[in-house]
Amino acid sequence: MAIKITDECINCGACEPECPNNAIYEGGVEWAIKDGTTISGDYTLMDGNVVDAGKRFEPISTDVYYIVPDKCTECQGFHEEPQCAAVCPVDCCVPDDMYKETIDELLNKKEKLHI
Ligand code: SF4
Ligand code: SF4
Repeated sequence: MAIKITDECINCGACEPECPNNAIYEGGVEWAIKDGTTISGDYTLMDGNVVDAGKRFEPISTDVYYIVPDKCTECQGFHEEPQCAAVCPVDCCVPDDMYKETIDELLNKKEKLHI
C-alpha cells in the first residue's frame, strides 16, 4: 500500500529528496505525475481517470509534507524499505490504509512511472 505522512510531520524536508518517484511534496506545493518521472502525455491514475502527465494538481496538504498515492510505490523496485519512513525523525510516514496494493501492483505502478 502507499505510504502517507501524518500531521505529526515537523516539515524537516528530509524525506523529499529520498523518494525515487518524486511522490513527496512540501505542503502547499502543487504536484504533477511528470515531476521526477519519465512520463509525458496521457497517464491513467489509480481511479481510472486519464490526465496529462504535466497537469498540476492542488496540494493534498497545505500544512505539512504530503505523499501522492498515485506516485508512491512503497519504494518497490528501488529499495528494500520505504525510504521516507527510514529517514523520518518523527516516524510519521506510515502505511495508508486507503490504498491497499500488492507488491505486483506496486511494481506495475513503478514500471508505469519509469518507462
Ligand atoms: Fe517515495 Fe518510497 Fe516514501 Fe513512497 S515509500 S513516498 S516511493 S520514498
Ligand atoms: Fe515530515 Fe518526516 Fe518528511 Fe521530515 S522526514 S518532512 S518530519 S515526513
